[in-house]
Amino acid sequence: MLFSKIPGYSDLKGKLLDSHNSGRIGHALLFLGEEGSANLALAIAFAQFISCENKGQNDSCGTCRSCVKFEKNVHPDVHFYYPTATSKSVPKKALSHLYASQWRTFLNENLFVSLSNWLLYMESEQKEAIIPTDESLQIIKDLSLKSFESPFRFAIIWLPEKLNVQASNRLLKIIEEPPKNVFFFLVSENDEAILPTILSRTQILRIGKMTSTDLSKWLKDTNPGLSESDLTFALKYAEGNPLNASLALNKDSEQIGVTEDFIAWARLCYELGKKLPDLIKWSETMAGQKRNDQKDFLVYGMEFLRAGMLRISDTSELNHLYPEEEQHVSKFSALLNTKNVPLLIDEINSAIYNLERNANAKILFLNLSVKFGKLINPKNVNL
Ligand SMILES: [Zn+2]
Repeated sequence: MLFSKIPGYSDLKGKLLDSHNSGRIGHALLFLGEEGSANLALAIAFAQFISCENKGQNDSCGTCRSCVKFEKNVHPDVHFYYPTATSKSVPKKALSHLYASQWRTFLNENLFVSLSNWLLYMESEQKEAIIPTDESLQIIKDLSLKSFESPFRFAIIWLPEKLNVQASNRLLKIIEEPPKNVFFFLVSENDEAILPTILSRTQILRIGKMTSTDLSKWLKDTNPGLSESDLTFALKYAEGNPLNASLALNKDSEQIGVTEDFIAWARLCYELGKKLPDLIKWSETMAGQKRNDQKDFLVYGMEFLRAGMLRISDTSELNHLYPEEEQHVSKFSALLNTKNVPLLIDEINSAIYNLERNANAKILFLNLSVKFGKLINPKNVNL
């Protein structure tokens, strides 16, 4: 990862370069930035710069033996540790090195990262990922070996806040006094969740929001042909977070399709009296879909209702909606009020709950349609 690949943050990059040039790099640095920020990218770029055999004034060369391995995320002197969870391929005792190839793909494909995205790469169905105690033993073991190629070695721990207390305690000594030429780069989203004894041994670098100018330039460079309206939307949605900006652009067309499906269904519900046969058919179609898609529909419905709620309580500037969605929400909110929205949300919530417990999907969606119809249209109440 070249520094130049990471948009913006010129001050922070300058600070890192200065610390290197003056020979004052802390042996334990904490790259602290919110989910989806440049925290991990900057840690990797700095490690690459330190190791580069032919570095320039402001960046690694990108072509030396060390850089080539960094670019592929296969440098043998860079050890990554990160939260893991069990999956089909690792059914028990998950540790970082068991997911090494997934991790490499994850890094190759994502400049800005989130734990939920990493769970997808692990193909884990768990909701939580942690760094277990055994991982701290692995870290100590890995670092007791000699370096392979570079004079420097790096332990890059992504999300040290996921270390449990025991694991953290085992690492105190080695973080305090690492072996010669070993650097600990801790990459965190939440310093408050890190054990104070670990925190006090690190030098903290805060990675703030990306400026609108930097974000805008990056979006234009990485999305040729990006329209002004999409750019404006992504910047507004992102609030200085590059991962959110790219998510905003990517979900575009898919999201609008879901909005239309949801509205079409809500229309049928509204006319419950006339449309019951259509709703039965709709429930059958929904029952034929994959469980995840069924759930996505419900989760989207919930987001849509929340947006409607904000609209009726006149706080719609809090909404992050596409213009197309905005119009739908705006029309739909005529059917919503402070009484029925919480009830509608409750209904969707319990549908999700039951779906996760393998309820009969056809009955579940038909029940939901009837309840929905009664709540959004008083004329349906006595049906
Ligand atoms: Zn190099």
